[in-house]
Amino acid sequence: MENVLGVDIGGTKIHLGIINASGQILYEEKIPTQIPLYPYLEENILRILADQPDVSAIGVGTHGFVDPKQGKVIYSAETLPGWSNTPVKEWLEKATGKRVEVENDANVVALAEAKFGAAQGLSRVVVLTLGTGLGGGVLWDGKLLSGGPYGGAAEFGHMILYPNGIKCACGRLGCSEMYVSGTALRNRIETAGLTFTPPELFEHAQSDPKAKKVVEEFTGDLALVISSLQAAFDMEMVIIGGGVSEAADLWMESLQQQLQPMLLNPLDIEVARFENDAGILGAALLVLETE
Ligand SMILES: [Zn+2]
Repeated sequence: MENVLGVDIGGTKIHLGIINASGQILYEEKIPTQIPLYPYLEENILRILADQPDVSAIGVGTHGFVDPKQGKVIYSAETLPGWSNTPVKEWLEKATGKRVEVENDANVVALAEAKFGAAQGLSRVVVLTLGTGLGGGVLWDGKLLSGGPYGGAAEFGHMILYPNGIKCACGRLGCSEMYVSGTALRNRIETAGLTFTPPELFEHAQSDPKAKKVVEEFTGDLALVISSLQAAFDMEMVIIGGGVSEAADLWMESLQQQLQPMLLNPLDIEVARFENDAGILGAALLVLETE
């Protein structure tokens, strides 16, 4: 049976896992992200491959805009300095002698959820990951909608939600990730003069009117994003992942209340099944022939 290495590269940590054709994680480790990233990544992958010689291929999910055909990072903003324009596939294939595929990290989460998680068996699914930013992934007739001339397909975090709004890392004003992400939620809490962490905010929303208002504004903006995506994709399901989704049982009702009047048609909203492992599972699926 074939084993592959799945690698999930984020702004603070890199998660690596050996995965078999049934989607089982046989081995995993997390290492802190270090800059310059490429030599550090190659060194760690070679170290793992030396211990795990039966790995046949490597899938990489990374933060940033990716050209999946070339396996190259097109653009990664400030989160991963120096990572833009890195030909990850070419360099890693040369270094390891194995097949390598590279995709955007939110796209690989969509793959993992569609194959093994909340959207199993569905063919049109939109995944939103609310973490440092707002990531997006689209499963379109069972395949990832990805790439584009600039590697930016499904980058929903950069759909403009409020013209002339808050300045985004991409340089423009009012991108949705400035309003709908873990970072945005923390900023909203601070702007409201509150000192809660996001989980505390959700817990206090029942009793504290200020906290309730922050939650409603946040879920209202998330509802706007979902409503526009439904008009574009008419998907069967939206899956919400990322750190904010861990407290979904505390904000889902608020989201549903605001979303219902904005929807064209009924729509399932689910929380991601794989909170921590979706990245390595989805990355593995880039190169894995599943059973
Ligand atoms: Zn932006």
